[in-house]
Amino acid sequence: MSKVEQYITSIPDFPKEGIIFRDITTVLGDADGFHLAVDEMTALLDGVEFDAIAGLESRGFLFGAPMAYNLHKAFIPIRKQGKLPRATSRMSYELEYGMETIEVHRDDIKPGMKIVVVDDLIATGGTLEAAVHLLEQLGAKVVKVVCLLELKGLHGRDRIKTCPAETVVAYE
Ligand code: 5GP
Repeated sequence: MSKVEQYITSIPDFPKEGIIFRDITTVLGDADGFHLAVDEMTALLDGVEFDAIAGLESRGFLFGAPMAYNLHKAFIPIRKQGKLPRATSRMSYELEYGMETIEVHRDDIKPGMKIVVVDDLIATGGTLEAAVHLLEQLGAKVVKVVCLLELKGLHGRDRIKTCPAETVVAYE
């Protein structure tokens, strides 16, 4: 397991009873932890050919943007509905209670573009599955999904069928 694990804080019963929330603000809050996390996520892209990193609002921005900056690639934000100012395409997906909708600027995605999708954590995989579908619907090829953390027992990565998904730290 990566040394990044020591910088993650596990918060029992947040946001509700029975859930252990994996808090990444303690990774960001330590200069060594932040470097380690971004560097290890970036290393998962060794040998991967791609044009841009798409990061998921909001914690995917915190890791995806420095990865894109380091690798001199474009960064494309995927945001919750209603936040992006230009013409968007959207994808809705189910949460435990209700629905969520994510959007991307349509003109950010060119057909055939190779994209890496970044978020902080894979739980059920619903968010990443929707992001991959959204980008593919616009003609992009998602070549890899990279997250800092994975909650293995929820089998979220099984929902990402069209490309490999890799994570730095996995919890059972
Ligand atoms: P999923 O769609 O895979 O069920 O949930 C993943 C999304 O929920 C990610 O965008 C992630 O930020 C957020 N999330 C769910 N559980 C946690 C958690 O324990 N810690 C953190 N940092 N994010 C979580």
